[in-house]
Amino acid sequence: MIRLTTARQPRRQNLLSGAGFAIASAMSGLIGDAGAEAPAASPAPSTTGLAPLKGRAPAIFIGHGSPMNAVADNAFTRMLGDWGRALGRPRAILMVSAHWLTEREVQVSTTARPETIHDFGGFPPELYRLQYPAPGAPDAARTAAQALAPRVAGIDAARGLDHGAWSVLRHMYPLADVPVFQLSIDITKAGPYHHGIGRALAGLRDNGVLIAGSGNVVHNLRATMRGQPDTLHGMTPWAEEFDVRAKAAIDAGDARALMAYETLTAGAPMAVPYPDHYYPLLYALGAALPGERARHVYEGFQAGTLSMRCVQWG
Ligand code: ZN
Repeated sequence: MIRLTTARQPRRQNLLSGAGFAIASAMSGLIGDAGAEAPAASPAPSTTGLAPLKGRAPAIFIGHGSPMNAVADNAFTRMLGDWGRALGRPRAILMVSAHWLTEREVQVSTTARPETIHDFGGFPPELYRLQYPAPGAPDAARTAAQALAPRVAGIDAARGLDHGAWSVLRHMYPLADVPVFQLSIDITKAGPYHHGIGRALAGLRDNGVLIAGSGNVVHNLRATMRGQPDTLHGMTPWAEEFDVRAKAAIDAGDARALMAYETLTAGAPMAVPYPDHYYPLLYALGAALPGERARHVYEGFQAGTLSMRCVQWG
């Protein structure tokens, strides 16, 4: 049964359950219209096989979908590998994931050796055995906290990496050799607050820090279609319309429309019944510089209604 959540104040979701997800193995091979650039040839490969990212690091948004993507070989996960190779190896990655939510405060992780958090239930055992042993980035994390002062209330020196981070990073940077830290999302705040934090963090990009939001533009777990092969378009009008409208607003640089996601389309309450997966888009958008054109690195849907749209600025 599909239920509409219309409460004004978002309610915290339960632990992510595997029951609502399709294990997407039969893929239709759809890739977004822009496609990822081919990896640049590296005449002198680094010890990790991936050239360092040169200059200012981009701001990106990643649609992560089901945790099963961590082990899936599909058009989306192959795109992630291409994307990582095209980007090169950043100095560090700041992940703003839908799966680290706080209330009335923002935290930044300074963990030196973050553990792999398996923050989901009901998935196959292989998923719980996965480890993503990327180092933390305590110095970059402290720099981020300073850039956000006084908004950052806490330094979390024990926080690990949630699956919103590692399920995609293990495809983008499979050697787990890029330092990663995370910033929590204060879920009690509205769109402009999250966009503002992204803006305040934009300067980190100059130091080679890749700013990545990880969520989904359209995400309603109660309305996913199990077993549905990947599609280019959403299988319901509310999913497709919201994704199309969000893309248009991204292309137009219309941050105001994107911050007010509740009114982006008539079906917005179905497309974004709870904003945890939507807000990461606003961090990446906020970290984009004026004049930077958005590039849709991937678009398409998994499980009928989960928008896997991925965007890069810079
Ligand atoms: Zn998620």
